[in-house]
Amino acid sequence: MHYVSTRGGGEPQTFSKILLEGLSADGGLYVPEEYPQVTTEELANMRGMSYSELAFAVLSKYIDDIPPEELRKMISETYTKEVFGTDEVVPVRELGKGLFLLNLSEGPTLAFKDIALQLLGRLFEHALARSGEELNIFGATSGDTGSAAEYAMRGRKGIRVFMLSPHERMSPFQRRQMYTLQDENIFNIAVLGTFDDCQDVVKQVNADAAFKSRYHLGAVNSINWARIAAQVVYYFWGYFKATRSNDEQADFSVPTGNFGDILAGYIAKRMGLPVRRLILATNENNVLEEFFSTGKYRPRTGAEVATTSSPSMDISKASNFERYVFDLVGRDGTRMRELWDALGSEGAFDVADSEDFARVGESGIVAGSSAHADRVRTIRAIFEKYGVLIDPHTADGVATGLRLREGGVPLICLQTALPEKFADTIREAIGREPEASARYAKLADMPERFEVFPPEAEKLKQFIAAHAR
Ligand SMILES: *Cc1c(COP(=O)(O)O)cnc(C)c1O
Repeated sequence: MHYVSTRGGGEPQTFSKILLEGLSADGGLYVPEEYPQVTTEELANMRGMSYSELAFAVLSKYIDDIPPEELRKMISETYTKEVFGTDEVVPVRELGKGLFLLNLSEGPTLAFKDIALQLLGRLFEHALARSGEELNIFGATSGDTGSAAEYAMRGRKGIRVFMLSPHERMSPFQRRQMYTLQDENIFNIAVLGTFDDCQDVVKQVNADAAFKSRYHLGAVNSINWARIAAQVVYYFWGYFKATRSNDEQADFSVPTGNFGDILAGYIAKRMGLPVRRLILATNENNVLEEFFSTGKYRPRTGAEVATTSSPSMDISKASNFERYVFDLVGRDGTRMRELWDALGSEGAFDVADSEDFARVGESGIVAGSSAHADRVRTIRAIFEKYGVLIDPHTADGVATGLRLREGGVPLICLQTALPEKFADTIREAIGREPEASARYAKLADMPERFEVFPPEAEKLKQFIAAHAR
């Protein structure tokens, strides 16, 4: 299996080559040369597998340059009850007839990013051990992604994490979750400023190419291919749990921002999983819904991004969308460069009148969006009807999923976070806060470990230089 750039440049690369890299040198994203197919027989075998066995069956199609037994070991050490709370790893619950919740949120940070990042931590450690290199992950977080990265990389050899967060501006839950980590390779840096200030400092430090290379600075971002591949697995899992036989089809409803989660579903469908429709759900930041209804893709400016009660979907552009557009344009790198040039010069592109847009139908994606009032109403309705509390991101998916649902086909809604992370919205919906899980309650007695810094790149560089290797 080789990987090619969406902009058509460069030579095809192996999985291990692209694992630690973000972008291709031509600015594009890596995608598999072709989507591996699952045969009818393979699908039949997969139905009875445990999550970890299934993950190996799917991922070994994408990762063929790590010895299979080593890959199997990393996967089986990741998808365990110890890490994800239950033997199923991803529990599936039927709410009402044909309506399912795929619970991706039982990992250490109680949100779905753990599913891919927990494996990524092991893959990174393995790759670094092979090459003898070190990696210093350096980034900024407003709360969620950074903590998932820290929990994935804690204690991993050859890796340190320097994570900036806005001092005293995170929710108590987010702060406790990150700052109570005691691992020596995790450095929490509380910046006296906003999340934007944190991002600016990260940019300034990264702009010093000599420093960046001397200290092996890297990132764990949402365009990492291994993350997408790891997410493909749970579409297979959810499908098997919600259907009785592989002759049936199922629909998925997916709350999305960066187009990462739904891209994984699209790839599962392309591999041959009997997915009928993928319902893409955005919040008020509806860049993607706009594309699917009009053919125009217009990323927003920072000032246009609304702060919502499903904050992990508050994005200005959808960083993984390029991988999907590559297929829409028939994998034509030249056309991709034209479209992304138009994004650069005009801030948008429009494919409404082209054959490309016609391929949207084949891909099975339909889109909708919801707003704060819809989320609150949906959280309340699901709680009253089924006694189950969902978080605001999941509620975006459920709201749009139920609106676009068609009868006779199971609807599987992705549960992307647990409600206790978003107590304010839950209180608004049902009049009281959700109960904290035992795992979070345990954090209450742990000391916090963080350094406070002004938003100054030079001071940060000194700190990194003193602690990095
Ligand atoms: C990141 C995130 C999403 C959106 O995922 P994408 O990769 O942007 O599709 C949805 N819900 C939660 C809770 C998240 O953290």
